Amino acid sequence: MILDFSKLSTIKIGSKLDVKIINEDNYNNEIIIGRATNSLVCTGNIGILDDKYDFIKIEDGILKVGGKTKNSKLYNFTKKHNIAGFEFLSKLPGSIGGSVKMNAGMKQYEISNNLLAINQIPKDKFEFEYRYSNINIPIFEVWFEIKEGFNKNLVLEFSKMRNNQPKLPSLGSAFKNPNGDYAGRLIEAIGLKGIRFNGVGFSEIHSNFLVNYGNGKCEDVINAINTAKKRVFEEFGINLQEEIKILI
Ligand SMILES: Cc1cc2nc3c(=O)[nH]c(=O)nc-3n(C[C@H](O)[C@H](O)[C@H](O)COP(=O)(O)OP(=O)(O)OC[C@H]3O[C@@H](n4cnc5c(N)ncnc54)[C@H](O)[C@@H]3O)c2cc1C
Repeated sequence: MILDFSKLSTIKIGSKLDVKIINEDNYNNEIIIGRATNSLVCTGNIGILDDKYDFIKIEDGILKVGGKTKNSKLYNFTKKHNIAGFEFLSKLPGSIGGSVKMNAGMKQYEISNNLLAINQIPKDKFEFEYRYSNINIPIFEVWFEIKEGFNKNLVLEFSKMRNNQPKLPSLGSAFKNPNGDYAGRLIEAIGLKGIRFNGVGFSEIHSNFLVNYGNGKCEDVINAINTAKKRVFEEFGINLQEEIKILI
């Protein structure tokens, strides 16, 4: 199946690629992409999950969610069923598979907090850190613990934080925050805030958001990322690490 990642991806940059529809029986080391809200897909041996992995159910007191399910769908489900711990999924683009792989979250709330198992393998067999997991298998099904008490106040708090984010197409935060500092502050300090690399640039609104001004290309993203990393290292001796996944 041909997928145009310049249409699918939230940064609206990417290539048209022939992708394989993946299930438990035919996986052969393809790179699984969910909604490409954190991934720049320019090339690669790409797979996307079969639609049968788009589901949410409660069984034996466990919340069972397919890897292809959209974050927004799980958010709505947990709101409806008064389940706590998924409030940060409000307006978080992407799929559950991508979110678990990225250990997505906001502040101290991370998707791994409520996690019990992936493809029936217990959580403690995997490592999770800030925006990192060592998962290297396709995430077909995720099990979560059910805690009562959906928190509307948290949703409001997260919503306020999102209001300060740029509206132009992006992949969210380009870099992880280094220990004790902010990637956005460092990018601003080296003078890259608002500076354009052809069609892309570090946003005037939030310098850690690399945004597409309309005609961005894969090579513009690479150029911007490499320039920021080089300049931050020269100026501060800090190795910025990409949060976004770049497939080139
Ligand atoms: C405007 C905006 C705001 C954002 N805000 C936040 C935020 O507040 N917090 C945050 O954490 N993130 C944020 N993000 C980033 C992004 O939304 C999350 O990381 C999201 O969870 C990624 O989901 P995805 O399906 O799009 O993943 P993709 O981009 O498709 O993939 C991300 C990674 O997961 C892997 N992957 C995807 N699906 C699977 C699967 N089924 N099995 C195995 N591996 C898989 C991919 O290979 C890739 O390595 C933001 C993005 C945007 C555009």
